[in-house]
Amino acid sequence: MSGKVYIVGAGPGAADLLTLRAASLLQKAEVVLHDDLVSSEILALCPASAEIISVGKRCGQHSRSQEQINALMVWHAGLNKNVVRLKSGDPAVFGRLGEELDALRRANIAFEIVPGITAASAAAASVGITLTDRHAASALMIVTAHNIRGEKLRADGFDPQRTSFAVYMPGPDYNRTARELRESGVPAEMPCVLVSHAGRSSEQRCFTTLMELPRLKVAAPALLIVGEVARQHLQNTGIADTLGDLPTLLKEEHSPRIEHI
Ligand code: SAH
Repeated sequence: MSGKVYIVGAGPGAADLLTLRAASLLQKAEVVLHDDLVSSEILALCPASAEIISVGKRCGQHSRSQEQINALMVWHAGLNKNVVRLKSGDPAVFGRLGEELDALRRANIAFEIVPGITAASAAAASVGITLTDRHAASALMIVTAHNIRGEKLRADGFDPQRTSFAVYMPGPDYNRTARELRESGVPAEMPCVLVSHAGRSSEQRCFTTLMELPRLKVAAPALLIVGEVARQHLQNTGIADTLGDLPTLLKEEHSPRIEHI
């Protein structure tokens, strides 16, 4: 009989943003296969006896191919081990989950998916904004800079001015990301918030407009939120009230505002 594979969302990095189910599975794990973005704070929950294997891929450098990751899951489950496949954020968002599920199904191995807090939710919560809004944003589009580039975002009924975009992997070419969003119909003066290391002590937030986005430089991983919802961030800081609207503010300052917390 083979063991079960738990595909677990690790959330954005802070251990107290894990689900209770995720924490309890990590505490019982015998083998943990984790991505690069999973924090050491979270790995510290695993028992000392657990075999912890990094299968991370960063910046196109694949330390293990997807096939090797699939094979490792199947191999350890075949040894009747309690296997946790630990992915950053939510496993179902840009996590190659489909390929891993296919491999487990093909090998007839039981699995369970444990959702996690995705980077868009963590980033929005940290800066104190909503992702949808009944007055300003009737849709949330979860995209990567890569699929903005390769695919057309327009669909019937899609209103780019009433959509919030959560852009995963938005850099390093912010110029191109901004251009592609503008070509999809998002106005140049649309507010944006870029949150690096959301939900971690090293978090950094920058707010700007789509037009000014290419001037930002932040450390990866970063999540970009584009849309009217990002204007609330300015209101939260009180800046919008005292200094007028966002385009005027940026014209006066000539540089995007960066907050360190
Ligand atoms: N499954 C993950 C996404 C993996 S793709 C999730 O649901 O969050 C990796 C991308 O996610 C990064 O390039 C970045 O855009 C985003 N990301 C992951 N963790 C992040 C964090 N703590 N802060 C900001 N962005 C993050």
